[in-house]
Amino acid sequence: MVVSHMVPAHSLNASAARLRTRQRSGLLCEFGARQQALTRLDGAIRRAETEIIDALTRDFRKPTFESYSTEIAFIRGEIAQTQRHLKRWMRPRRASTPLFLQPATSRVEFEPWGSVLIIAPWNYPFQLALAPVISALAAGNTIMLKPSELAPHTATVIESIVAAAFPNGEVETAIGGAEVARDLLDQQWDHIFFTGSTRVGRLVYQAAAKYLTPVVLELGGKSPCVVAADAELKTTARRIVWGKCVNAGQTCIAPDYVLVDNQIKDKLCTALSHEIERAYGPSPLESEDYASLISDNHFSRLAGFLKQGSKEGRIFSGGRSDPAGRRIEPTIIRDPSPESPIMQEEIFGPILPVLGFDHIGEAESIIARNPNPLALYYFSRDRKAASRFLKRVPSGGAAINDTVMQVGNTALPFGGRGASGVGLYHGRWGFESFSHKKGVFSQSLLLDPPLRYAPYSERQLSIIRKVLGF
Ligand code: NAD
Repeated sequence: MVVSHMVPAHSLNASAARLRTRQRSGLLCEFGARQQALTRLDGAIRRAETEIIDALTRDFRKPTFESYSTEIAFIRGEIAQTQRHLKRWMRPRRASTPLFLQPATSRVEFEPWGSVLIIAPWNYPFQLALAPVISALAAGNTIMLKPSELAPHTATVIESIVAAAFPNGEVETAIGGAEVARDLLDQQWDHIFFTGSTRVGRLVYQAAAKYLTPVVLELGGKSPCVVAADAELKTTARRIVWGKCVNAGQTCIAPDYVLVDNQIKDKLCTALSHEIERAYGPSPLESEDYASLISDNHFSRLAGFLKQGSKEGRIFSGGRSDPAGRRIEPTIIRDPSPESPIMQEEIFGPILPVLGFDHIGEAESIIARNPNPLALYYFSRDRKAASRFLKRVPSGGAAINDTVMQVGNTALPFGGRGASGVGLYHGRWGFESFSHKKGVFSQSLLLDPPLRYAPYSERQLSIIRKVLGF
């Protein structure tokens, strides 16, 4: 796929220097300047709504309902929530001061990192580029944003929104692919925020190490969905199918595979395929409500899972595909071996393996074969059993009796752990990730007891022992 234009490395170098100078000149120092920048961003998005929807259609036939709800409304909601709370977030947080240090006072100040680099993926190409921009602006940083080259129409719209919203240069965009990203990573930034694959995340971490730059890495992985024998079948099937098929499964927190109690495995498989038909009709490949895959390469990789036939398990429902339209039907694969590729690689498409278990311990050991997931889902009527399960299985985030919707609550931190990510964002968590937490100790000049000063005497030592109490 061709992007609108590439940026030469020397001009990235100049951009990085400009962004640093602007940040240091205090461009976003004050609360008012940050609020205005967010208001301008919101206005530019509102005015470009039709272009955004059109770009997402051209990039991967994303349904308008999904473009509005998961990209535009999500971002405008995040701006509104940030503007509502920013004054409070920016206020220094008072910290306690132990008796022996009084009458000093202590506080934590939120200091912008400086000029930051944001690298975005293609799967929610608008939302995942702009959500970290909101947090970074709120925290007072200037920003270099690189959208994904795999959604080129959306990247062009983002570029024009940024140009319209930031005439003072608080944010700049760099259009291009891996090469541009590598050139950007050669520059010195004060913080790097990366969303994408674990493989590239490792490269970004290595590049950041050169300047000891702090990072947030929002990565991928296999998010399991466990269904207990007492789960409410119809709602469970509906929520799993929606989480798997929204954006055609190209969602970092989509349920990657299902582990279901063998007592209800047959019933769940039937309920899942009924729900697919209810949502997308008898020919999902023609459904207007179903996005396409982003590229021919992504189509071929997923089609490969379907071809591997019996080794991958049995296709229970779906399985048809349309290479020209880059579409694969929502497909349920029953009982693939835990050793098969589909149970080891992140699927990132509308194929859902379903495996049974007799004891919850079996489900836990299948999950433990892969690194810590980004999300963990558990369906049951028994909230206590759900809490016990969540305590035993580490994951970035989790939802009980739902999938994907946890991302809609920006009061919750969003991020992975280990191979699924480093660091957090959304709401206050994003503001904090884009801020250095500076501990400030402010001493009084009224008193200056000589106790701590040399030359030290036996008497000082015995007093300090008493004061400190150890
Ligand atoms: P990707 O890692 O291929 O690309 C992400 C970005 O990195 C793109 O902008 C790309 O141009 C850039 N890039 C590519 N090669 C690079 C290199 N060598 N050095 C530096 N940058 C490079 O990821 P993708 O295919 O766009 O996205 C899919 C992956 O992202 C999936 O694994 C998914 O789970 C993950 N993801 C995670 C989240 C999250 O919030 N945790 C959200 C969306 C997607």
